[in-house]
Amino acid sequence: MRSQAIQTALSRNILKVKTDVSDIPSLYGSYVFGQEAMKEYLKKDAFKAVQDAIKKGTTIQRDIAEAVAEGMKAWALDKGATSFTHWFQPLTGLTAEKHDSFYEVWDGKAIANFSAGSLVQQEPDASSLPSGGLRNTFEARGYTAWDPSSPAFIMEKSSGKTLCIPTIFVSYHGEALDYKAPLLKTMALLSKAATDVCQYFDKKVKHVGASLGIEQEYFLIDKALHDARPDLLMTGRTVFGHASSKGQQMDDHYFGAIPARVFNFMYDLELESMKLGIPLRTRHNEVAPGQYECAPMFEEINLAVDHNQLLMDLMEEIGRKHGFKTILHEKPFAGINGSGKHNNWSLITDTGVNLLSPGTNPEDNLQFLTFFILAIKAFKEGSSLLRASIASAGNDHRLGANEAPPAIMSAFIGSSLTKLLKDFESNKLNTAKNSDKKVINVHNLPDIQVDNTDRNRTSPFAFTGNKFEFRAVGSSENCGRPMIVLNAAMADQLINFKKEVDALVSKKTGLNDAITKVLKSYLKSCQDVLFEGNGYSEEWAKEAEKRGLENIKNSVDAFESYLSKTAEQIFVKNGIFTREELHARYEIKLETYIKKIQIEGRIMDELVHTHILPSALSYKQRLADTINSMQAAGMTKDETSGTLDVLKKVTHHTTGLKNTVDKMVEARKKANDLSDTRKKAQAYCNDVKSYFDEIRKHVDKLEYLIDDDLWKLPKYRELLFIR
Ligand code: ADP
Ligand code: MG
Repeated sequence: MRSQAIQTALSRNILKVKTDVSDIPSLYGSYVFGQEAMKEYLKKDAFKAVQDAIKKGTTIQRDIAEAVAEGMKAWALDKGATSFTHWFQPLTGLTAEKHDSFYEVWDGKAIANFSAGSLVQQEPDASSLPSGGLRNTFEARGYTAWDPSSPAFIMEKSSGKTLCIPTIFVSYHGEALDYKAPLLKTMALLSKAATDVCQYFDKKVKHVGASLGIEQEYFLIDKALHDARPDLLMTGRTVFGHASSKGQQMDDHYFGAIPARVFNFMYDLELESMKLGIPLRTRHNEVAPGQYECAPMFEEINLAVDHNQLLMDLMEEIGRKHGFKTILHEKPFAGINGSGKHNNWSLITDTGVNLLSPGTNPEDNLQFLTFFILAIKAFKEGSSLLRASIASAGNDHRLGANEAPPAIMSAFIGSSLTKLLKDFESNKLNTAKNSDKKVINVHNLPDIQVDNTDRNRTSPFAFTGNKFEFRAVGSSENCGRPMIVLNAAMADQLINFKKEVDALVSKKTGLNDAITKVLKSYLKSCQDVLFEGNGYSEEWAKEAEKRGLENIKNSVDAFESYLSKTAEQIFVKNGIFTREELHARYEIKLETYIKKIQIEGRIMDELVHTHILPSALSYKQRLADTINSMQAAGMTKDETSGTLDVLKKVTHHTTGLKNTVDKMVEARKKANDLSDTRKKAQAYCNDVKSYFDEIRKHVDKLEYLIDDDLWKLPKYRELLFIR
């Protein structure tokens, strides 16, 4: 299998991507039922209703929905679609779809049909999707419901096109079973809370949206080599593999020249993304060999999340076309970097102001300071939930392990803003001295020159000029999950802030003074999350502990915060999740974790018995035979000692390997007997998984010792360097 895979990989043709460059502008959004298509296919009132739903969040009436369905159908048929599906994001983290044909047979004739009913709501038989106990089997129904704020699009597979309608996914009783429904709730909450606070500064603001720009890291591995590794196939990561002599130590991959086959993949991906309205802009090599990154321009958060989900599906699809497997796992290879995705987040008003942009006009700066300080406070108050929102078996290899970013949730703001906050605290900005005749008039604020080179790559939450970048998100994650937390935590701060400010304002205390006073107290309370130094250092771990910051190293512990007081404060009180929904999510996350580690344990066990030990035994036999013949030929102890030494080493590792695998299997059996989900997850995390490193150590040593011809699994150098 291994040598065949290498042959296939080496003899691949490079697939050319055909495009006429002049077509590119017309390609953009051509598969999206966006503004242009709507203008063409919808009557005026239907068009307006959808636009209002997008911009103001208004509800679309049934008769209008009928008209939208009619127009959408006509557009989709013109584009060559034959079926439609509700497209949603269940708690598996993947996307889900169930296709129905447009065509119904009437009197022996096929007629295309698509009604408001099919557009607005469906009842997919989704009882096998995770619900964390929210659906009893007798009430297994789940509903998908149209999200008009994210445009419908056409998905093209090799021989057919399907109209996809973005939807939320809820249970019979209305509990959310996906990431989109709660994300939409946080957007409404945040818009209202931020608009209320904006009113202090600018009465014209009527809506505030969160924006999100995602940088996506991934690996590309030749498909044949990938498929010859059962561990990659089953778990998305290599559970074994001796480091290749060369890894990323030469720093020669980052921003390096992109290999032709990879380039063609990227180009193809960009063109296909463009059709779907995903504004991909950036492409480059990442640090590890075989690792790359792409980034679209930022968009409104709901759309950005949908687009990232869609992008991940596209990457898989297009990778296959070019003979690659796209790997989105957070840590596919030991010893070299894993993959994450940076979530660049900010708040933008309907008047076009980025509330996290310091700007050059000092008069705007108290508004900036307000949102900036509140964002830091939100990060602090929500930190345990944020930690939970990025926790997964895959991301455990990065967070709190030997790699970036650390599991300690700290924020980096850079030297100029650190100074600004200091000056603000010590009254050097003089905000309090101003009269309140104008709503806001802040003198003496320095013209903030945010230095974009002032960067700290070790911080999980970094301010980068006009946005915060949450860097700890895993590469395969649905970004909705952490963004729900960030939005809700921010909204919660804004609501509290407004209450406190309003309560302070009196005849004696002007608005300006009240704002300043509250901000100062907030700043004091969140100093401890600000950290400018090296987040990977030992000293920081110690310092963070002194400051009382959490350093949660594994997912199972991190998930506990779903059930915490913080969750109650941020989610339940603000109507984002009920306690039952939180509990369901907690259960689902634990169950997913258990299954992932269980599968990893099984594949290790199986590979050891069917691949590793047989190779080792053959080699041992060969060594023993050699020693025997050497002795028979009258060779001395001295002369046979080298061969004996190898034989001893191989024996040492085979014995160690067999023993450790047996212990792991035993621990797995014990864990499986536990009925309490939390205890079972803890057993998998603390017992079963604790044998993995030891097993791997023996296998990797054997890979190093044994004749290459006998080794069955493609090696790291082949996986990472053949392309
Ligand atoms: P890098 O962090 O690698 O230097 P950039 O800063 O250029 O990259 O951008 C990273 C991502 O941040 C891109 O998706 C970009 O569109 C996004 N971004 C830029 N401005 C904002 C903003 N105001 N809100 C959200 N995302 C933004
Ligand atoms: Mg970045």
